[in-house]
Amino acid sequence: MNKYLVFLEQRDGIVKKASIDAWNRVQELARLQPYAVVSGIIAGMADIRQLDGSITGDGVIFFAKNESLNRYNQEYYTRLVSDIFQHEACDALYFADTAMTRDLAPRLSVRLQASLLAGIPVVDGEAAGSCRRPVYSGSLLATFVPRRENRIYILSSRITARPASSDGHIDFMDLAPQWLTAGDMFPVVRRLVMQKGSPDVAEADIIIAGGRGMGSAEGFVLLEQLASLLGGAVGSSRTVVDEGWRPHAEQVGQTGKTVTSSLYVACGISGAIQHLAGIGSAGIIVAINSDPHAPIFDVADYGIVGDVHVVLPKLFDSLKEFLKKK
Ligand SMILES: Cc1cc2nc3c(=O)[nH]c(=O)nc-3n(C[C@H](O)[C@H](O)[C@H](O)COP(=O)(O)OP(=O)(O)OC[C@H]3O[C@@H](n4cnc5c(N)ncnc54)[C@H](O)[C@@H]3O)c2cc1C
Repeated sequence: MNKYLVFLEQRDGIVKKASIDAWNRVQELARLQPYAVVSGIIAGMADIRQLDGSITGDGVIFFAKNESLNRYNQEYYTRLVSDIFQHEACDALYFADTAMTRDLAPRLSVRLQASLLAGIPVVDGEAAGSCRRPVYSGSLLATFVPRRENRIYILSSRITARPASSDGHIDFMDLAPQWLTAGDMFPVVRRLVMQKGSPDVAEADIIIAGGRGMGSAEGFVLLEQLASLLGGAVGSSRTVVDEGWRPHAEQVGQTGKTVTSSLYVACGISGAIQHLAGIGSAGIIVAINSDPHAPIFDVADYGIVGDVHVVLPKLFDSLKEFLKKK
């Protein structure tokens, strides 16, 4: 029997879309096998009602409701997840690809003596837990075979459009780790909070992204206005981050974040392969670029050849007008 454990990451009490997607993908994998059990973990206080209708399949979700687990803490999270993994005699642990995962998963791979496979687009359940993933910015597909019995997979994002099926039954089991009763051993000295209201680019459904073609940091005001009108997030190319125009948290691509938005508007972005590596799971791609031969047009569903400083204000005005009438 295969036993899979999925980490459902919460932030501010909301389980991340990418984690829900990871759970559903592991359920799909379990369905293909005669005997497979899926369990989940939520660390910290989360509103589990939001999961109704979005998670599929059967299984148990261990719910460690404790204030000390609300924020990511390396020691607590490593201990919690490894305890459950070992206690439940699991074979494989699955994470969505998030900033927290990139810190936690390597720790767990040491603690659990597990093979760690990152950037996995498809959970295919091949023999011995092997899996395929693109390498060299997507130009080759490589098969990775884990050498250890315990495996940890970090699933790359995909579009979460797949509807959750209503069948199946999921139980929630409250956990109270005894070692947490000593109180918060790691007081938070300082917490840096992202600008209020701006969604995380990895979670946003609409992204208005800018590249060097925006001309300057000030040029991004246009993108901020458009993103706020549509309730989306601002994304950036690496060049823009290197220039210091935008924070790294907004960077999309191979060394930035992978996005799963249903709409991605690329403004003044050339479409380098490293940037495209982050938008392969985006839905509709709209490109605005003054160069008709820019590679971004090869992947765009809609393209506008023009100067962003001319096109964007017009786009903003017409969208505003359109939304007012709705
Ligand atoms: C190992 C490695 C990892 C990398 N990781 C990433 C990554 O994660 N993400 C990433 O983005 N890049 C990454 N890069 C960098 C990548 O190769 C490109 O250099 C970068 O994406 C280019 O950014 P850009 O499109 O903003 O700039 P440019 O390539 O300079 O393109 C600017 C575009 O703007 C257009 N333009 C100029 N003026 C206007 C205007 N007024 N109106 C409209 N269009 C205009 C131009 O025609 C051009 O197409 C990585 C590179 C390496 C080597």
